[in-house]
Amino acid sequence: MNVDKLMNDLTRKNPGEVEFLQAVREVLESIVDVVEANPQFEEANIIERIVEPDRALTFKVAWADDKGDIHVNRGYRIQFNNAIGPYKGGLRFHPSVNLSILKFLGFEQIFKNSLTSLPMGGAKGGSDFNPKGKSNSEVMRFCQSFMMELHKIIGPETDVPAGDIGVGGREIGYMYGMYKKLTHEHTGVLTGKGLNWGGSLVRPEATGFGNVYFAEEMLKTKGESFKGKTVAISGFGNVAWGAAKKATQLGGKVVTISGPDGYIYDPDGISGKKIDYMLELRASNQDVVRPYSFEYGVEFHEGKRPWEVKCDIALPCATQNELDGEDAKKLVANGCICVCEGANMPSTPEAIEVFLENKVLFAPGKAANAGGVATSGLEMSQNSMKLNWSAEEVDSKLHEIMRNIHESCVKYGKDSEGYVNYVKGANIAGFLKVANAMLDLGF
Ligand code: NDP
Repeated sequence: MNVDKLMNDLTRKNPGEVEFLQAVREVLESIVDVVEANPQFEEANIIERIVEPDRALTFKVAWADDKGDIHVNRGYRIQFNNAIGPYKGGLRFHPSVNLSILKFLGFEQIFKNSLTSLPMGGAKGGSDFNPKGKSNSEVMRFCQSFMMELHKIIGPETDVPAGDIGVGGREIGYMYGMYKKLTHEHTGVLTGKGLNWGGSLVRPEATGFGNVYFAEEMLKTKGESFKGKTVAISGFGNVAWGAAKKATQLGGKVVTISGPDGYIYDPDGISGKKIDYMLELRASNQDVVRPYSFEYGVEFHEGKRPWEVKCDIALPCATQNELDGEDAKKLVANGCICVCEGANMPSTPEAIEVFLENKVLFAPGKAANAGGVATSGLEMSQNSMKLNWSAEEVDSKLHEIMRNIHESCVKYGKDSEGYVNYVKGANIAGFLKVANAMLDLGF
């Protein structure tokens, strides 16, 4: 398998899609040995087939603001691969959204969903709409308009979107409301739903909880745990707050959270009421990080990232490429032993190289943040069965799934010296299931 040739062909076909090409290269480089050991994959052209989305839809989303002015955004849904189950993956509303970012996320989602062991294919979607600074009614009108188009290609057995950056319970609610009007059906077509109308307990915190469960498993391989450890977290969104809560519950001290314009360092730990305070701010659509620094009298480091802080464990939970090679060197120099990605592809390839060279416990998002989609899968099961599991039941299934993903990564990622390359392990484990399913299904 010639990765450079494959990448050259892909670059020609997808010019300028930097994030997508970055994500594909990472996967291809780690599955070379497996593909070469299994000639049936090359014979069936599995690689060329897996890097091409089944379909990529873009559509116009026109909406009126509170003054009656009409705006146009672009909506997307990338249905990447449904070899092992209905398409599944979040919707992102953020001004940076473009085809490349959604294709990278959709591609990653194929392997992540495969790792969960649940029957879910890979997809992603969203819009360059920015919910920040919009009124509730504006967000509602946008979501309704978005769903007017999206509903044509989704369905509980076809494609089940969820939330992502900029899409939380409120947005899912407005989109689900419109889906119901358009289809006359109350089905599990979206996950991340409110508890009163088909949602699952533990879904809001599942990605963060799952991320910490995964880190806990990695730490165990070195006889370590969260107890007494200093934890640096980036972002303070859906993923970060769950991670902060669980890391604290397990005895860690979370000292940072961040936004796009800087981070705060709280040496006393960010926990309990402090987290509740920020969740209230988030719920009312307000900035979180700066107000925290005023409320609790801690420093706000403008324009900086939290990776310069001394910590034992780093959980990047904000966005792609938010931790580069220089950040990685600082973390290693400061004695960080474990980096567990809560966000999708937050570490650049240079950063990953630094972690692997220094034998840091490093887990890629596709394994370490799979708890969110796994719990979405559990929400789909509950919707199909028309019943609700208790929080304990969902949490214990989530915990079990994260332990199993960790085991799969160890199985395929452990080298002869005992070091686990979780990037390789996750990519191989995720790939094998999907590739074998594609072989079984014909082309
Ligand atoms: P949210 O929008 O809820 O949170 C994102 C957070 O990151 C916000 O606090 C945001 O600050 C902050 N942020 C954005 N850009 C930057 C930046 N450049 N530097 C530092 N902070 C930044 O999104 P989610 O928590 O849902 O998603 C975060 C990541 O996790 C994404 O990569 C997503 O794809 C991934 N993910 C999410 C899942 C989920 O269940 N939600 C599941 C699996 C992965 P501000 O609000 O001020 O902009």
